[in-house]
Amino acid sequence: MTKKQTQRLGPGGFCVCVKCEHRVPHERGTPCLQMRCPACGGRMVREGSAHDEARKRRRAMTAKA
Ligand SMILES: [Zn+2]
Repeated sequence: MTKKQTQRLGPGGFCVCVKCEHRVPHERGTPCLQMRCPACGGRMVREGSAHDEARKRRRAMTAKA
């Protein structure tokens, strides 16, 4: 791989657990949404995806309360 890694969605990247925020390298061909968190068994989303952004926003809101 000679290309610089980018933060864009595509091959590579990470899946992040919506429950405990455990991160695992994304496996090519397997959507994060179909994966289970190895730590807590929770649902996982693609890091940086719309799901992840929504999760962060929700988290920021609940953290304020
Ligand atoms: Zn988890």
